[in-house]
Amino acid sequence: MVEKVIQLKCSCNQYPWGKQGSNSLAATLCAKTPNTDFKIEEDKPYAEMWMGTYPELPSYVLETGEDLQDVLDKYPNELIGQDVISKFNHTKLPYLPKVLSIAKALPLQLHPNKQMAAQLHSRDPSQFTDPNHKPEIALALGDFEAFVGFKPLKDIERLMQLPPLSSFLPPVKKANFDDQNLKHVVKTLLSASDEVIKKTNDALMQLPRDSFGTDSYIPDMIPRLSEQYDKTDNGIVVALITMNYLQLKAGDSIYIPADGIHAYLSGDIIECMARSNNVLNTGFCPSADRNSVEQFVSVLTMTPHDTSEALLPPEKFPRSKNGKTKVYGPPLSEFAMLATELGDGESETVEKLGGPSILLVAKGEGALTVQGKEYKLSEGYVFFVGHGVELAFKADKALQVFTAFVEKET
Ligand SMILES: [Zn+2]
Repeated sequence: MVEKVIQLKCSCNQYPWGKQGSNSLAATLCAKTPNTDFKIEEDKPYAEMWMGTYPELPSYVLETGEDLQDVLDKYPNELIGQDVISKFNHTKLPYLPKVLSIAKALPLQLHPNKQMAAQLHSRDPSQFTDPNHKPEIALALGDFEAFVGFKPLKDIERLMQLPPLSSFLPPVKKANFDDQNLKHVVKTLLSASDEVIKKTNDALMQLPRDSFGTDSYIPDMIPRLSEQYDKTDNGIVVALITMNYLQLKAGDSIYIPADGIHAYLSGDIIECMARSNNVLNTGFCPSADRNSVEQFVSVLTMTPHDTSEALLPPEKFPRSKNGKTKVYGPPLSEFAMLATELGDGESETVEKLGGPSILLVAKGEGALTVQGKEYKLSEGYVFFVGHGVELAFKADKALQVFTAFVEKET
């Protein structure tokens, strides 16, 4: 019989926005797997550690070196369980958790909905590798800055009255600035030439600070983002004028729906998404990496429309015996995320989960007992846990564990 708990060996990718060498939490956690062949090179950026079975960067069974997916295919009933297999009609993990270490803005992006994803995939399977949507959550492990969704319409309307921006408004002005006007603004800003964007940024920086009202961070952010990419980058004006700028603390989380606009700016986070790698990029990246503005805007959803809609606060998890585990439950069927936090010497038991989970030890040391067998927990350790078992945690040193999971009713 196969064991329910399988320690994994994961890897990191090296996108240019990642933090350098051992400044990257993604890389340092990844390097802590016992006997891993993953070695940090100090001159390389490390962006994302992936945990799970997505073929681009799969996880391996630490003990045997087998691809985790091969093991799931061999023991689907024992590890995934019939409930989740029949829910999705496959024996893959329906979610993909990652640790991201962000030194500068990620491309301004959205992940297309299921229908659009299926169309794009059939047209261009090399660029759009999945027929699936990719809503995601981002959970801050420390200070985290992000641009997410759109500001309230009245705030955008006020900013759009500033002289350097008024030319991007629709020619025929309606009584109320609505989502259609906003879409026009986003499209016009994304289509503007390098020269126009540079001029607009320069003109915005000349304005007195109080012209920006409550959005007084805008004149400080223009030079910061210009340095990361270029003053000609269309993403700068779109992000600063139309999007919410969020400064989050450890434990805060945001939810990005399918087709939702977002760009993460700095910090270390855990991200979890539906199983897909599809993305449409439009700013904060070289022009060659951008999808067409037409395509981006045609898919774009106008929600969330203020910061409170973007936040995903954790809730009490009813199956936590000692109340040390919270759940982040986005409105999705593919996953939820548990956060278990224990002080020195504390313990917690999480009752049976009805589907497979991926568990990451973000901090501390301790032990996990499952079906009478004890597994050592230490910072950076990653485990797959099969369905239907109780998880008993004990902390030797303050322990922080994140567990992505799915069930029939998730
Ligand atoms: Zn994303």
